Amino acid sequence: MSAGFDQLLQATIDHLQREKASGVKYLPVDESLLASLARPFPSAPTRQAPQSQPAPTSAAPRPTGAAHPTAVTGKRLPREEKQAAMAELRERAIVCQKCPKLASTRQNVVFGVGDIHTDLMFIGEAPGVDEDRQGEPFVGKAGQLLTKIIQTMGYTRDTVYIANILKCRPDTPAQEYDNRKPTTEEMDACKPYLVSQIDLIQPKVIVAVGQTAAHALLQTTEGITRLRGNWMEFRGIPVMPTFHPSYLLRQEGLATKRKVWEDMLQVLARLEVTISAKQRGFFLPK
Ligand code: URA
Repeated sequence: MSAGFDQLLQATIDHLQREKASGVKYLPVDESLLASLARPFPSAPTRQAPQSQPAPTSAAPRPTGAAHPTAVTGKRLPREEKQAAMAELRERAIVCQKCPKLASTRQNVVFGVGDIHTDLMFIGEAPGVDEDRQGEPFVGKAGQLLTKIIQTMGYTRDTVYIANILKCRPDTPAQEYDNRKPTTEEMDACKPYLVSQIDLIQPKVIVAVGQTAAHALLQTTEGITRLRGNWMEFRGIPVMPTFHPSYLLRQEGLATKRKVWEDMLQVLARLEVTISAKQRGFFLPK
């Protein structure tokens, strides 16, 4: 649907919820409105990038950003229920208006991509300009490097799950080019979506990609240089903080690449994946 449609839909839902909360039980509607509501909704091309989850089988309304019920119980859902719940969560996220400025400047809500049944989840900061255009996380230069790291580990973008703390691109004065760090308010508003994603996926390991993601997940202000390489925990799930690939792109030589690689070797060991001798030796000085 268009952004205009999404906004109108959300505004309508908000209005109806306010009416209900103030005690209104019935709304006057004339016959022509009833007839148009009864007509099947025309399918329209969507601006969202294709996702690996199928369409929702049900779309019971839940307050925007509220964690999914499984989040509370911690139970693993059967595959199909999990897919439906994730699709429903995505439906809510793509019409989110909690940060009105971001909602008005975004081209796409960048929900997440990959296998929702995976053991391994990567969490970054926020979409940049490329991700906003394509509706998919980590597709720009830094994202391509993250993709290479994932492949060197023996996975693909389709066999892990990739998401960000923030689902919308932080707006900038020069909207086309610059990036800015998400504000605490933006992260707090958006985090329930990520928490629900994590609770549904229940990965065995999370990689916190960069300092902002590590701080948002781990409630610490320690610098990433100290945090990286050390196991932490989020909702009982082991988290490995590591440098952001955009930082790696600015580094000459092998030393920082090797540090990130050692973090990924720890992740593979934790997942009890067989590590080849070749893999162990990557980014060591010759
Ligand atoms: N950086 C991030 O942290 N996430 C993206 O999706 C892209 C760049």
